[in-house]
Amino acid sequence: MEPTADIVIIGGGVIGLSIAYHLGLKKAGRIILLEKGQLGEGSTSRCAGGIRTQFSTEINIRFSLESLKTFATFEQEFGVNPQFRKIGYLFLATTPGEKGVFKKNLELQKRFGIPVELLEPGEIRKRWPYLRTDDILAGTYCAWDGYAGPSEVLSGFAGAARRTGVKIHEGIEATGILARRDKVQAVKTKDGEISAPVVVNASGPLAASIGEMAGLKIPVKPLRRQIFVTAPFRLADQTIPLTIDFHRGWYFRGEVDGFLLSGPLDKESSLNLNVDYEARVEAAENAMYRVPELEKARIARGWAGLYEISPDNHAILGCVPGLEGFILANGFSGHGFQHSPAVGKVIAELITEGKAKTIDISPLSIERFEKGELILEPMTAFKE
Ligand SMILES: Cc1cc2nc3c(=O)[nH]c(=O)nc-3n(C[C@H](O)[C@H](O)[C@H](O)COP(=O)(O)OP(=O)(O)OC[C@H]3O[C@@H](n4cnc5c(N)ncnc54)[C@H](O)[C@@H]3O)c2cc1C
Repeated sequence: MEPTADIVIIGGGVIGLSIAYHLGLKKAGRIILLEKGQLGEGSTSRCAGGIRTQFSTEINIRFSLESLKTFATFEQEFGVNPQFRKIGYLFLATTPGEKGVFKKNLELQKRFGIPVELLEPGEIRKRWPYLRTDDILAGTYCAWDGYAGPSEVLSGFAGAARRTGVKIHEGIEATGILARRDKVQAVKTKDGEISAPVVVNASGPLAASIGEMAGLKIPVKPLRRQIFVTAPFRLADQTIPLTIDFHRGWYFRGEVDGFLLSGPLDKESSLNLNVDYEARVEAAENAMYRVPELEKARIARGWAGLYEISPDNHAILGCVPGLEGFILANGFSGHGFQHSPAVGKVIAELITEGKAKTIDISPLSIERFEKGELILEPMTAFKE
């Protein structure tokens, strides 16, 4: 392995690879990406692929709009079809509080020119007659939203990064970070050290452990989310949007010939990747409640993955005060896949030009936690 580099990226998920590609594109020097296992084996391969503009904070909307541009032209740029299906996202409110929040979110989204619709229960019933609507007070729908294929997007970034000259090493774990006089010096691995003045932490749910290697506290917790998929099942002759029962924290969308059903999100952090029977029951109960027809469907399989949760459910991006050359791309809190194109771009700008130009990432600095400047959302954030 190369003993020196200009930039080392730790983590070969969708975030690390997007950053690698954008750095390569900018001819940022000798770039090495280390992945302890196989590319995408972390959260990226367990992700539901959801892409939406319906966020409740300006910063997340900016990341969505910037990333949408890339998803729209992905095949031309990367030579891989990302399988972006614009099926729309439908959020359902069942309490007056939720309805109020949806209205506020819609005002914000409209300010960005996003064509979100506020729907009354009757309209929801008319458009999606298979839904139980007797307890629904309102909904919002946006046709720009949908989902894409995480493995397609990952392989697009990986192939393009390699073509720009990035060296990608799988099966190499970063085991330590060396620093001198408050500057990053090198990354340790069991195959030797790579000296580099810039190191990017793109290690997903393991971000805090990479931080510890550099003597830093990065407030990112791994939280398990379980997902289930039904055997082939037909619900209706129409496009079924990704539908979110906000109150229950449950969502579903089509998946091949069946449906993907969200399972529960753990409350305690862990690295547990098992699938539980209780979670399967909860997913089935939520499904039958909101879509009674799904009683006839059969759950065929399931899996679990880890979200990388930050204290305010927003990413932690940028430099770290007191450790020059250490760059964070962490804490995406369940939406790192959809924001990966823009994250790669802004982190590459930060490293090569000293400042992220496409989007001001200063609100996402790690310093916000110490300063008490957390990003507030009107209600607990929805997580895919
Ligand atoms: C069930 C589930 C559903 C989701 N659905 C959505 C969705 O619909 N839309 C969306 O936008 N997001 C979704 N997400 C979130 C999304 O998957 C993540 O935000 C995104 O994949 C994060 O990418 P990453 O590259 O930061 O992390 P990862 O994909 O986890 O990549 C990090 C990589 O770093 C490697 N690594 C860690 N430590 C080291 C080390 N010491 N040395 C070398 N390599 C190391 C890991 O092996 C891993 O491959 C979902 C997540 C889960 C769990």
